[in-house]
Amino acid sequence: MKFNKVVVSFLIVVVIVSCATNPFTGKKTMAFVGNDQLFPSAFAQYDQVLAESKVVTGTSDAEMIKRVGERISVAAERWLVANGHHGYLDDYKWEYNLIESEQVNAWCMPGGKIAFYTGILPIAENETAIAAIMGHEVVHALANHGQQRMSAAYVQQGLAVVGNVALANDEQSLGIFNQSFGIASNVVGMLPFSRAHETEADKVGIIIMAIAGYNPDEAAELWKRMEANSGGQSTPEFLSSHPANDTRIKNLQEMAPEAKAEAKKFGVTSFRPIN
Ligand SMILES: [Zn+2]
Repeated sequence: MKFNKVVVSFLIVVVIVSCATNPFTGKKTMAFVGNDQLFPSAFAQYDQVLAESKVVTGTSDAEMIKRVGERISVAAERWLVANGHHGYLDDYKWEYNLIESEQVNAWCMPGGKIAFYTGILPIAENETAIAAIMGHEVVHALANHGQQRMSAAYVQQGLAVVGNVALANDEQSLGIFNQSFGIASNVVGMLPFSRAHETEADKVGIIIMAIAGYNPDEAAELWKRMEANSGGQSTPEFLSSHPANDTRIKNLQEMAPEAKAEAKKFGVTSFRPIN
């Protein structure tokens, strides 16, 4: 009897979950946690990280991060609208900040909260490469990869199975958020996304970068520099979750002409010089 109850609850949950469609793949994806529940937690966590970090303001680098972020999110919106996803970004509150830290890192939180660390700038070398990283991170946010990861955490905890997701109070949500994003005090240690999420972020990110007017050829060059920097004793944070391997570089090289063709549909026929 007890077992049957669990099975029925699980099936109900599966039906609810199946309702969410990923606009990037057209596939149904797991999403127990709605934006209305997820985003407020993410926004609060983001503010906490900023409060505990040295946020760089007023420098040309800080301005570049914001400029690239805005161009990329505008391009993402154009791409979404062109693909029939009007209003998709209504709940998003984009923010792009540069944090003073030697860490080679950049990350996004659900709802469009993005951070770059100054440590990644020397490897990026130029604004076009920043756009490649930004495009990748923005797609993680758009495709709700974090939401899917958080949903997976719900499943692990069995909360979904006992059917009290809807009743989960804020404290529970925050706890699961912290767990699924690996956030503790002032340390942001993002768990790696799955390989499928990474491929998706690369594939759509390079298109969005091109629509924003940044030369997609630079994406592969960036990852070559990442690979060159991945040696040494401690693997940089970003590279531990974003392996820069030959397959990734080769895929990006192959995707670049496709991204240029896609950008052409949006009236982008030339790109800013890479510098
Ligand atoms: Zn990624």
